[in-house]
Amino acid sequence: MATSNPRAYRAACPHCGAPVEFASAASASAVCSYCRSTLVRDGEALRRIGVSAELFDDHTRLQLGVQGRLQGEPFTLVGRLQMGYADGTWNEWHALFDSGRSGWLSEDNGAYVFCFEPEPPPDRPDPATLKAGSRTLADGRAWDVALVVRAHVIAAEGELPRPPRLAGEFNVVDLRNAQGEVATVDDADPEDPGWSVGRSVLLADLALTGLRDTAEKTLKARGMSCPSCGTALEIQLASTKSLSCPQCAAVVDVSEGVGGDLAHFQQNQRGALRLEPQLPLGRTGTLALGGPPLPWQVVGFLERCSVPDPGDDEDEESFWREYLLYNPEAGFAFLVDAEDGWSWVRPVTGAPTVKGDRARLDGKDYQRRWRYRGRVTWVLGEFFWRIRRGEVAQVEDWHSVGDDGQGRLSREQTASEVVWSAGRTLRSMTVASAFNLSEAERRSIVRDTAPLAAQQGSGWSTGQIVAIVVILAVVIAVSNCSNDDEDCERLRQSFGAASAEYQQCLQRGGSTSGTRGGSWGGYSGGGGHK
Ligand SMILES: [Zn+2]
Ligand SMILES: [Zn+2]
Repeated sequence: MATSNPRAYRAACPHCGAPVEFASAASASAVCSYCRSTLVRDGEALRRIGVSAELFDDHTRLQLGVQGRLQGEPFTLVGRLQMGYADGTWNEWHALFDSGRSGWLSEDNGAYVFCFEPEPPPDRPDPATLKAGSRTLADGRAWDVALVVRAHVIAAEGELPRPPRLAGEFNVVDLRNAQGEVATVDDADPEDPGWSVGRSVLLADLALTGLRDTAEKTLKARGMSCPSCGTALEIQLASTKSLSCPQCAAVVDVSEGVGGDLAHFQQNQRGALRLEPQLPLGRTGTLALGGPPLPWQVVGFLERCSVPDPGDDEDEESFWREYLLYNPEAGFAFLVDAEDGWSWVRPVTGAPTVKGDRARLDGKDYQRRWRYRGRVTWVLGEFFWRIRRGEVAQVEDWHSVGDDGQGRLSREQTASEVVWSAGRTLRSMTVASAFNLSEAERRSIVRDTAPLAAQQGSGWSTGQIVAIVVILAVVIAVSNCSNDDEDCERLRQSFGAASAEYQQCLQRGGSTSGTRGGSWGGYSGGGGHK
């Protein structure tokens, strides 16, 4: 059926009869917008191969029909694959260019990658064989394996270059290189191995029109009760996957939405004993973090500590704190408060070139200074990744060389993901001014070696002193880097799984939390095209 667009095509849905429009005759598949039948082109007719599940409301601002430009070339979003994996969801938007070319805009926690699907190179690696943190050669370039996940298609909509795989899991692996490219290999279709290559983009650079209004109302719909204590919880950010209860400090997993039984766990330092962040949650400060000064809001707080490596003589534990900052245009950044001072980092999409203890990124050289395992001991606020109990990340701190030495690079690795983040040191007073701290608050953030004792300003009341003593006692008792899960495990082995000792250990909070991936930066925040 001819329309004004010579490439357009229209046919009736064989299931419900509704008209199904194709903006491109090259698109091999579409999902009926009425009955969600998944259809493939079969000559001039459509054949039904299954039905797509309902889309999970992930509060994205993108939608079908959004128009934009990539380097001046106009495109329209005509289709979407909503993908799921163990730690959440992401979207692959099918972008149809006016030229007829197809691309993908990958949307992952506010980070975006635009990519295309060239002919797979003969040396395309098998995704089933790749390990996060390793290197591989493909298409004449060296790549770092940044992320390895088992993924599945949750739902599809609109028009797609080929039929989606509606059932089963498959491997998806992100590769990154020193030129800032992101490649993805997948084995969703063993006959037709996936290979795409692209770069990270900012939504602001795509001149998008027709975006969905991510109104407060959609977020209001994400209100719920704490599954642990019943307190009403309200989610502030669309991308939030985990949040803490302000009443009981339970960490609640909302990565699968807010209905039903929500997975959650208790933290050790609970109730009145909890440690408050020195930059209050919700406070906004204006800081230049690698770009123009922007208002950044404190949305999350993490206390972490380093776990000595086995066999390492240096068994000193050290704590540091991280503030998750959010700006609606720029996304997320981390403000790090460590014993050696303040710094900020933001995830990078590329991978530095690493030779031994030297790394180069964007023309800047870095030297590796520290390598340790990092565990999260306490969180407050909202997080765009899933906070997991007991998970440890391998952390590396790199400092710039050949300049003022104030550049920072961090690498965090978990079993499935490697995240690089880059930034700079900040002066305490810059932080204090930005967040408009009071005189007493300012004194407390000037870096000290007793971070826990510095929580309070001067002029303590007796009650406060008692509280601090109690806090310190609790902190000494529970807030250490040892894996409490292992302690519970010992009890389980000694007394059995049904024993009061073991159950109490679990209820105490068992382990404090752990995170997926690393602090400084990451959690897929680098904009993976998975
Ligand atoms: Zn239909
Ligand atoms: Zn609660």
